[in-house]
Amino acid sequence: MVLPNILITGTPGVGKTTLGKELASRSGLKYINVGDVAREGALYSGYDEEYDCPISDEEKVVDELENHMTEGGVTVDYHGCDFFPEWWFHAVFVLRTDNSILYKRLETRGYNEKKLRDNIKCEICQVLYEEAMLSYREDIVHQLPSNTPEELEENISQILGWIEQWVKDHNL
Ligand code: ADP
Ligand code: MG
Repeated sequence: MVLPNILITGTPGVGKTTLGKELASRSGLKYINVGDVAREGALYSGYDEEYDCPISDEEKVVDELENHMTEGGVTVDYHGCDFFPEWWFHAVFVLRTDNSILYKRLETRGYNEKKLRDNIKCEICQVLYEEAMLSYREDIVHQLPSNTPEELEENISQILGWIEQWVKDHNL
């Protein structure tokens, strides 16, 4: 059976990991957190002093994930999307969160003031949505609101429905 690959992207704190893990457990898709893959393999190209975090080596990450993506049936979670090969994904979901809610979530995470402000700005300017629209066919890019538990539940149902339809269409 052929299974689709899905990308869940958006600004840090919008709920990618929460949605991705829940979706994987309910759909049977594999879940890959790109940040964890980079950490586990030390796939870094440098250190960002300003944000106080390592910079992932995008080429090495792509090499590391290639086999999984060829196999199919993967949900990828990452706050960037312009360096993956376009053919990897059959659907791209960009999660969106209102500023005040996102601010609280990132504050809880202990982000420094600059990192906090920059991430909120990134969300206001819909940086990830624009990046997704430039990197993938526009008709596979979907924005989903991610503010409340009810919205999380709706997003899961919607994506499960999408997967079911995709599987029907591609396993005739
Ligand atoms: P990301 O992986 O995008 O950085 P997380 O999944 O870690 O975001 O979520 C950040 C925080 O927001 C967590 O505390 C999580 O429980 C909460 N959260 C995520 N999605 C929702 C939602 N739809 N409604 C309410 N809280 C959410
Ligand atoms: Mg996360």
